[in-house]
Amino acid sequence: MSVMVPSMTPAQISAGQEALESAHFQLDSAAERLGLDDGLRAMLATPRRSLTVAVPVRREDGSMDVVQGFRVQHNVSRGPAKGGIRFHPATDIHEVTALAMWMTWKCALVGIPYGGAKGGVAVDPAGYTTRELERLTRRYVNEILPLIGPDKDIPAPDVGTDEQTMAWIMDTYSVNAGYAVPGVVTGKPMPLGGSLGRAGATSRGVQIAALSALGRSPEGVTVAVQGFGKVGAGAAQYLADAGCKVVAVSDVTGAVYAPDGLDVAGLRAWVAESGQVRGYRDADALGLDELLELDVDLLVPAALEGAITEANAPRIRARLIVEGANGPTTPEADRVLAANGTTIVPDILANAGGVIVSYLEWVQNIQACSWSESQIERKLRDMMESAYGEVKSVAAERDLTLREAAHVIGVGRVAEAHRMRGLYP
Ligand code: NAD
Repeated sequence: MSVMVPSMTPAQISAGQEALESAHFQLDSAAERLGLDDGLRAMLATPRRSLTVAVPVRREDGSMDVVQGFRVQHNVSRGPAKGGIRFHPATDIHEVTALAMWMTWKCALVGIPYGGAKGGVAVDPAGYTTRELERLTRRYVNEILPLIGPDKDIPAPDVGTDEQTMAWIMDTYSVNAGYAVPGVVTGKPMPLGGSLGRAGATSRGVQIAALSALGRSPEGVTVAVQGFGKVGAGAAQYLADAGCKVVAVSDVTGAVYAPDGLDVAGLRAWVAESGQVRGYRDADALGLDELLELDVDLLVPAALEGAITEANAPRIRARLIVEGANGPTTPEADRVLAANGTTIVPDILANAGGVIVSYLEWVQNIQACSWSESQIERKLRDMMESAYGEVKSVAAERDLTLREAAHVIGVGRVAEAHRMRGLYP
């Protein structure tokens, strides 16, 4: 039997702790601008519920691993908690709390009636067979079962999880309930009540945000994308479809570069076959850090938190950064980039397409109806463009960066909900 708990010396601080510090800094700044009192600030800084569970997994050789799982509901003042589930070896309670907090502001910013949540299991899914992953997912869901439900807390895919993971979650929950409950998760396969347009929704939202921020024809705009997973690969594709020239992309194994533009569809086929971008024949190899510092018009970080820091921010040459990932830029890097005149479309706006279409999937599930792809596409575009417009005008009115403005709006709406509901008892 092996028990897997990430080891750290007391002096080390995890990437998750850094992400949580960034999230608290952003909340404090917004609370200051909004003039919130100390009680309300403490309420918004503290998750409503936070659960750590042990997840025992039977391996194919008969041995057992015990891994840690988490589910955090940061806020539920505007509706049920909503947020993805991440399978990644470095995830911890701090990271999951930061991601849950960002979900709260994101849902409020784009005007959907959800609070914020996140879940995670500290495993590397690449090290498990499909059957092991199924057992792990079902056991994790069983451990967090009292928290989730279509009216309470609705998970979705994130790093290391996909439609299949959501199908197992839906089945585990439904078997326990005694009847099918499609609305308990979003990002499901179509035959189980998934929504048209959900798979590419985050990436489509990134494209909409990027084209809004560019403010000129996308034709020939050069792009680098960090992370070639569900969000990054789709964003690269949609940006190329709009006429941009995607010159570089990376995944955890390496980066590839083609100054005249990558054939994104060809690269996706190569990744589907080989499992990595490295080795793609029609491109040169590039270092992971070099990709971030390329002389491109648009940089899309779509991997993990903390990619752009005080250390590399001075070398970032893109004039526009559109955050596909959650928390890719630290507050120190924000300051450096703002001083250099770089525009950043922040995560809680740029990657909101995923939760918008998750919301549309949930609405279809609870109403037992289904909408066409063009209906979904139209609603997604309207909601993204209207949120972008609001952020842009608050930024202009109050002389704020887009991130500061997005947090003022998101945090402000949640604070308003708390004030109107009052404090029980
Ligand atoms: P994913 O697991 O599908 O893909 C992650 C990608 O990042 C992989 O290609 C991986 O190899 C790559 N990667 C990891 N570390 C890297 C590094 N150091 N350098 C370069 N590449 C690296 O995950 P995803 O669902 O695409 O999520 C990516 C980001 O987008 C996360 O921050 C996630 O929270 C955020 N996000 C996802 C969704 C969604 O709908 N899936 C919605 C909103 C936000």
